[in-house]
Amino acid sequence: MAVQTSAIAANLERVSEKVARAAERAGRSTDQVTIVAVSKTFPAETIRAAHDAGLRHFGENRIQEFEAKQATQLGFADAVWHFIGHLQSNKAHRAVHLFDRIDSIDSIGLAHKVDAAAAQERKRQPVLIEVKLSGEETKSGVCESELRTLAETICRLPHTELHGLMTIPPYSEDPQGARAHFRKLRELRDGLRRELGLELPFLSMGMSHDFDVAIEEGATEIRIGTALFGERLGARNR
Ligand SMILES: *Cc1c(COP(=O)(O)O)cnc(C)c1O
Repeated sequence: MAVQTSAIAANLERVSEKVARAAERAGRSTDQVTIVAVSKTFPAETIRAAHDAGLRHFGENRIQEFEAKQATQLGFADAVWHFIGHLQSNKAHRAVHLFDRIDSIDSIGLAHKVDAAAAQERKRQPVLIEVKLSGEETKSGVCESELRTLAETICRLPHTELHGLMTIPPYSEDPQGARAHFRKLRELRDGLRRELGLELPFLSMGMSHDFDVAIEEGATEIRIGTALFGERLGARNR
């Protein structure tokens, strides 16, 4: 095994053990939790090493950055690519072309752009709605009060499939600080299920420092960067 692959494999083992313990505490099974490896800022060779280590879901947050990596032929037949960053409407088409799922739909306008792009690409585009649960101006995501209308809108779009919800809670040193936000996202999902009769099987929540708490609150996907790949260069939220 190449050095990078064995380092990632060791990290993956640590993360997987923590996933297993959290799932056990919550009376859930580990196969209800998927690790999305957040490979943003890392080169294509790191993604290849992660794939060799057994990871299959990958999250990227910049269209252009991912286009450059794809150009180096990351053509795994079995990888699932998630777009997890803020998506500008004018990049909707490129996102639909490149990604298996767009996890960050946060406006009706964007949903329509994605649907039009999916129609052109002759695909049905799976998406998640990103919900903003804190008042922070800097965070993207739809407000709780606008969630239902956005969900209803997406359900009427012919080329877009709503698969669930995603959130990024405000950063807190103590992982327990995010618990109320994770619980809230699950309750919002349950509410939409009841009111709109949607299935919404996926809840994408929890990152390197708080994914165990997210699993206890029902996460089906955790987005893990640092705990698999080490620190990224540059700002924390990149
Ligand atoms: C960067 C990023 C992550 C990964 O964060 P880590 O703390 O490194 O695990 C998860 N989700 C989103 C949306 C991100 O942008």
